[in-house]
Amino acid sequence: MRVLVLNAGSSSLKYRLFDCEKEIGAGVVERIGEPGGVKDHMEALKIAQERLESDGALDSFDSLDAVGHRVVHGGERFTRPALVDEGLIEALEELVPLAPLHNPANIEGILTMRKIAPKTPQVAVFDTAFHQSMPKEACLYAIPLEFYERYAIRRYGFHGTSHAYVCKEAAKLLGRPPASLNMITLHLGNGASACAVEGGRSVDTSMGFTPLEGLVMGTRCGDIDPQIPLFLNEKGVDVQELLNRRSGLKGLCGHNDMREVLKLADEGCDDAKIALEIYTRRIRKYIGAYAALLGRVDALVFTAGIGENSPEVRELSCRGLEGFGIEIDRSKNRAGETEISKEAGRVKIFVVKTDEELEIARQTEALLSDARL
Ligand code: ADP
Repeated sequence: MRVLVLNAGSSSLKYRLFDCEKEIGAGVVERIGEPGGVKDHMEALKIAQERLESDGALDSFDSLDAVGHRVVHGGERFTRPALVDEGLIEALEELVPLAPLHNPANIEGILTMRKIAPKTPQVAVFDTAFHQSMPKEACLYAIPLEFYERYAIRRYGFHGTSHAYVCKEAAKLLGRPPASLNMITLHLGNGASACAVEGGRSVDTSMGFTPLEGLVMGTRCGDIDPQIPLFLNEKGVDVQELLNRRSGLKGLCGHNDMREVLKLADEGCDDAKIALEIYTRRIRKYIGAYAALLGRVDALVFTAGIGENSPEVRELSCRGLEGFGIEIDRSKNRAGETEISKEAGRVKIFVVKTDEELEIARQTEALLSDARL
């Protein structure tokens, strides 16, 4: 099957083309809607099409078997991927208030693709879907229930496609079915989230109603006392911007790129050192919390830009967790091996490269194969 995976953002369009799960083309069109850039998503998609055709990856969009779209927010309605039709588009529009920065661009990508290749089946794959297995006690906040009913305020969780993918990959490494395994997965990229996986299903995750909750991130604060934004609001601070764009590592030491933070910490910069401590202490807190929830942990999985590439962050994130059976083998960790736990450690520790687009392609294929049965 030939599946084109699209990740449409407000100003960029990422695309990857898979043939039977093998990547045969990929790229990104940037500066959509910006002065001097590409006019709109239609023009961006045409550029992608031309590039794929001139690379010889594709004759035309008509020869595609399917298109898989990354959609950030599926609310409570979408617990698995869904075939795009009028009803789905309407449902996505209703979900815009929950993801005002992301869903409109995702919808735009879908509508544009439908115009270009109206006969090609399209599938929406949701970042939130994997976490829809969370029980009520994990996803409800302790505020009056009427606010859940009135405004759908609850924990949704994000990065679900990545958590699902690395969880399945770790199960393969262990040679056991995901349904038999408990894991803690750590997606540490620009955004970051932890997930408690029980029997292959998400039972808790650190991002919440929005992707602001939980771990410390590049520019997002993660967990803070909820009274702080109210206090700052009264002082006239633009809290939305402060907590989403000026906090996290950037707020603590002026840099949101972990490579820079590590370099500065190594050179003795106190702000960078404390930023790194705060960042990794939060991860340890979540590992401990999820170990307590799960009771038994078979594997701990690091993924995304920081999780995959930084042995220092992995070490600091596991520091002092020997009592939980979590013991990193320093030399395996530094050597960049996939399994980095000590032989004696009860919990296997893995570094798994995430691949959200491949997972979207797989889920798209699976849905269409099921639909044909
Ligand atoms: P996104 O969440 O946007 O998909 P990524 O998963 O690609 O982002 O992660 C990007 C982050 O990964 C960068 O901000 C950078 O801090 C971090 N990163 C990449 N390479 C390294 C490295 N070698 N060491 C530490 N951090 C790294």
